[in-house]
Amino acid sequence: MSAIQENTEMTPNAQTNETPSVPGERVDMLNFTRKELEQYFIQQGDKAFRARQIFRWIYKQDVTDFTEMTDLSRNMREHLLEHATISSLDVVRVMDSVDGTKKILFRLKDGAQVESVVIPIGKRLTLCISSQVGCALGCRFCYTATMGPGRNLTIAEYMGQFLGAQRLLPEGQSITNIVFMGMGEPLVNFQNLLGTLDILTDELGPKLGARRLTVSTAGLCPQILKLGETFPVRLALSLHATTDAQRDQIMPINQRYNLKTLFETLRNFQKLPSQQSLPVTLEYTLIKDINDSPEDAKRLIKLSRSIRSKINLIPYNEHPGAPYKRPSSEAIANFLRILQESGVLATERQTRGDDILAACGQLALDGEAKKTRIPRPRNESPSSL
Ligand code: SAH
Repeated sequence: MSAIQENTEMTPNAQTNETPSVPGERVDMLNFTRKELEQYFIQQGDKAFRARQIFRWIYKQDVTDFTEMTDLSRNMREHLLEHATISSLDVVRVMDSVDGTKKILFRLKDGAQVESVVIPIGKRLTLCISSQVGCALGCRFCYTATMGPGRNLTIAEYMGQFLGAQRLLPEGQSITNIVFMGMGEPLVNFQNLLGTLDILTDELGPKLGARRLTVSTAGLCPQILKLGETFPVRLALSLHATTDAQRDQIMPINQRYNLKTLFETLRNFQKLPSQQSLPVTLEYTLIKDINDSPEDAKRLIKLSRSIRSKINLIPYNEHPGAPYKRPSSEAIANFLRILQESGVLATERQTRGDDILAACGQLALDGEAKKTRIPRPRNESPSSL
């Protein structure tokens, strides 16, 4: 048995799904899918359709004060005021890049901090959201991994990033796409990811088409299949290496699900009705002298051809948490040329938000990362920081 199989931290349920709760705490409406909210109202002796009303208030009108929800009965409004809440995340800081990218640092209720990034690409406005505080997967090149296992974000914390980012946009603009490519591993936070996807695609909620949502994973095979059975979302797979020996070294998850298992899973995933004709994006972070040789490119072509895929090359973003280097521009161009000449679909990801450290693997890279690791006590006010 490999060391990784013994590491229970890596199993999806090992991390707690809950923010530390306080007895008598109000229920957060942002944690509910519409179905769950219907159940909630039925349990309160009210009608299921209240859920539709609440959903509209929250996700269409951005109203978070129950007293303004005029189509609810007075009694229900009073009940909700006492027992429920619609949370929002504190915005610690917003950084705007010259290229239009916006990095937002949010503070969660327990004091931990996560980042989200809004990236304008043509007519699209893509939000990159975080799934966990820290990450247990331990990819050697990733900055978030240096924070340790941390915890899963709740559905409310996922939705809080979406609503919080949306509020910071100029009038008339709205988020059109979401990528789950921020801090942490979305498929470790699986149940909350499903709940969040349910809300995001709800016709009475933000109503984002599932094909506008991309979940990026380091390769948790059982969850990849379950995801495909549940939602027609796009999948991005963080590949980063083309042999087991290489991938074992930089991505410990490979010791649990090796390349053969991974690509068998992807082939089965692509047979699911939800994935008809959709390609999987193979993300490949180019790291100097680790995975950037012409032989790597050739093996990558072979792997890419074994499924419907497109390759997204990400030049490595250096950070103090790992010894790796970005290859020279020449080496990157050469690698891309080999891929493109073979006829596989490959692009280089344009690094966005470079000036504000919002690029892949750089989230929580500045001084704020330290605070992310040491949550403040609940009763400490932000101003005392
Ligand atoms: N856990 C998920 C999503 C988070 S990371 C996953 O593994 O896919 C989003 C992408 O950025 C992943 O492909 C990840 O491997 C890549 N990445 C992480 N650190 C990086 C770095 N320093 N430079 C470039 N890409 C990096």
